[in-house]
Amino acid sequence: MPTQKTHTMAIRYPFVYNVGRCIHNGLSVALGAYRRSTALILSGKELSLLVNEHTSKLCRAFEERFSRKPCLAVVLVGDNPASKTYVKGKKKACDEIGIAHIDFTYDESLSQKSLLELVQSLNDDPNVDGILVQLPLPSHIDEVKVINSIDPAKDVDGFHPVNIGKLLLGQKSHIACTPKGILRMLDHYGILTDSKDVCILGRSNIVGKPMAALLMQKDRNATVTICHSLTPDIVPYVKRADILISAVGHTNVVTSDMVKDGAVVIDVGMNRVPDPSKKSGYALRGDVDFANVEPKTSAITPVPGGVGPMTIAMLMENTVVAACDQKGIDTADLEVLE
Ligand code: NAP
Repeated sequence: MPTQKTHTMAIRYPFVYNVGRCIHNGLSVALGAYRRSTALILSGKELSLLVNEHTSKLCRAFEERFSRKPCLAVVLVGDNPASKTYVKGKKKACDEIGIAHIDFTYDESLSQKSLLELVQSLNDDPNVDGILVQLPLPSHIDEVKVINSIDPAKDVDGFHPVNIGKLLLGQKSHIACTPKGILRMLDHYGILTDSKDVCILGRSNIVGKPMAALLMQKDRNATVTICHSLTPDIVPYVKRADILISAVGHTNVVTSDMVKDGAVVIDVGMNRVPDPSKKSGYALRGDVDFANVEPKTSAITPVPGGVGPMTIAMLMENTVVAACDQKGIDTADLEVLE
């Protein structure tokens, strides 16, 4: 299990990890004329490859045992360009990893009743392990109703109130993919959260709230502050943070004067900014002014290539976990040949 191994190495063998880190830092210092920072770049792109490799092995073992692949139903309603891109990325990951996907694509006019009926039929289908309804939904559809209609066992996004509630109580559940991916990254890179001050910018149901709930658990022991658009002044909270997680959705929300020296900065933001040099016409930027903030940090995620690939990797992992749960086994029960 490569993920588990690397993961464990960073935690159990901080010496080995730190030697690696020193080499990394030493190289950065040696190249100081070109690169003044010694920040560790937390590469979700690289880590997701390791995670996906393991998930792929689990999928093969699942298929050998049950004569079918784990299966994700992917529901897209409407024309939102960002949603289309996300869904394309998720299906591509399924194909690469060996997860079957059934696609349901509808135009904007789909009624709420039809969508709820579709979700019910997917809940009832024993060959569907996970259900992903891409958000946002068109305004005539009540998102809460739709999320609440998904069988919590198949809610691989981890958005259902049962899963969120269990997460808050520290019980086993499907964990929302972005916060889960962030924790996996922190673990992999040996970044401990115990007794750390963590500031989270954003209180959404899919990032900020589950992230805070995870970090306050007894296995994480962070002291968590959440800021939002009505926080009168976010600066003192950000300045105090050992670990800053920004999930706001605006560029340059976090600037270098706000960040404590040596802080760890996790940038969840995915903001499209016009860039005529790109075929798509836009470039992806985070919430953080990366160029100026990076030199002050001890570790930072890039955008793109940071949190984004980990989110997809966790969705894939959650789908295999859901498939195993529904067969009454644990992923550890699958015989994986390394
Ligand atoms: P959201 O639902 O729009 O929530 C944004 C949050 O930021 C809200 O809680 C809002 O406060 C808060 N906020 C807005 N302006 C603020 C400010 N100036 N200072 C402090 N807080 C402020 O967004 P989301 O779904 O959580 O996503 C946030 C960003 O992360 C987006 O760019 C999204 O594309 C990205 N994202 C990336 C991934 C990934 O895999 N990389 C996954 C999910 C989301 P109020 O609650 O008061 O409105």
